[in-house]
Amino acid sequence: MKIDLHVHTDASDGKESVETVFERASILGIDAIAISDHDTTANWSKAAELAVQHSIGFVPAIEVTTRAHFADGDSRPAKFGVHMLAYLPDPNHEGLVERMRKTIEGRVIRLQEITETLSPVYGLTWDAVLDQVVGDATLGRPAVADALIAGGHFENRGQVFDAIWYKGSPHYVPNRAVPDTIEAIELIRSAGGVAVIAHPLSRVKDRDALGDKPLRHFEQMIEAGLGGVEAYHREVEAQDRNWLLALADKHDLIVTGSSDYHGLAGKDNELGENTTSIDNLRRIAEQATGIALVNLAI
Ligand code: AMP
Ligand code: FE
Ligand code: FE
Ligand code: ZN
Repeated sequence: MKIDLHVHTDASDGKESVETVFERASILGIDAIAISDHDTTANWSKAAELAVQHSIGFVPAIEVTTRAHFADGDSRPAKFGVHMLAYLPDPNHEGLVERMRKTIEGRVIRLQEITETLSPVYGLTWDAVLDQVVGDATLGRPAVADALIAGGHFENRGQVFDAIWYKGSPHYVPNRAVPDTIEAIELIRSAGGVAVIAHPLSRVKDRDALGDKPLRHFEQMIEAGLGGVEAYHREVEAQDRNWLLALADKHDLIVTGSSDYHGLAGKDNELGENTTSIDNLRRIAEQATGIALVNLAI
């Protein structure tokens, strides 16, 4: 069975509609997908209908933006963004809804700040960024990238990220108005969901600050109720994956694999390029109490 537990649509920074994503999953013979847009459940109900139409299983999910705070232990003080997948949380849980609302608000302000730093360089305007976004989609740097591409400055998102958001770039503004990792895990659990770290240890700009591996922080997250790690993802390096697999083994964590698909024009990641075993999906479903799997009996 082909199960891909991390997929984006145009409800956040994916380039394709949820309809197109399900069509593509169907063409590729994928049995089940999670729709895991950044900080939103906006496409869940459409996905539930499409799942039935295409005879594909649907796993409701959110990629929750969080921030890790290291104060002591095996690393010097550091803060950086961590994406936390929430599987099968109750989408109407008050605490979760309120937290997402704050995060989405913060994402708007932060993207406006980023846009301001780029306007002297590329003549970028806020309207040009908004032109790239469908409806109420949650905003991220890919919208800025798309605006710069539309303005003829770059050919694809990868080029923009390499050119603009390198380490120490003046154009980088962090997502500050987000929960920290521990708070996010507790919130996801209280909403009946299962928390799985997305692409763990990837995209950390100041990797040296972590020391060898941030074991203490992982232990704290496990203590808070972390359910699993997305060890199989193209941005997780082999050495990190081995460390994560050993940690998962020791603490009996769920292990997932996913594509992090953002549409054919969004990123190279192809639907189903990494997959999750049915046993691991079953463990997610058994631990969750927020909402049920759709069109999927396992
Ligand atoms: P943000 O949410 O604003 O921090 O932007 C992060 C998002 O940008 C990620 O979720 C990815 O979808 C996207 N992203 C990061 N790096 C790249 C890249 N090199 N090429 C294309 N998209 C990227
Ligand atoms: Fe994304
Ligand atoms: Fe992510
Ligand atoms: Zn993602």
